[in-house]
Amino acid sequence: MNRGRDTSEGKGSLEPRERGTDFEVPYARENIQKCMCSQCPVQANSKCAQDKLESSKKAMENMSGEKVPDPKDVPGLYCSTGKATCQDLNPDRKCICNTCEVWKEYDLGEGKPSQYFCMNGKAT
Ligand code: SF4
Repeated sequence: MNRGRDTSEGKGSLEPRERGTDFEVPYARENIQKCMCSQCPVQANSKCAQDKLESSKKAMENMSGEKVPDPKDVPGLYCSTGKATCQDLNPDRKCICNTCEVWKEYDLGEGKPSQYFCMNGKAT
């Protein structure tokens, strides 16, 4: 378990926190890179999501340091930013959030919603 880890080593904002009403998964480059949404069947056939995936990947390659694209341009990390802006996702397909390092790190299975953040909104 990672809980209770010393957060004084400069990575504090990315450490797991106690769950609560102000719980938020940080919208950070590191988490965008860990997010599994790019491989998720729910948005595999979404032209909107696939286009955004390609353009956000390119944008991030050209951004320096910890800079990140606008959340509406990133088809992922929905556990942090809330419901997808793309309307052509398929909720009948299987969500793979439970295979994701971010999901594990923040114990998102314990919250509500616990998966399908692209449909149900951000993790709380
Ligand atoms: S838990 Fe789901 S939405 Fe959040 S980063 Fe992982 S794959 Fe993306």
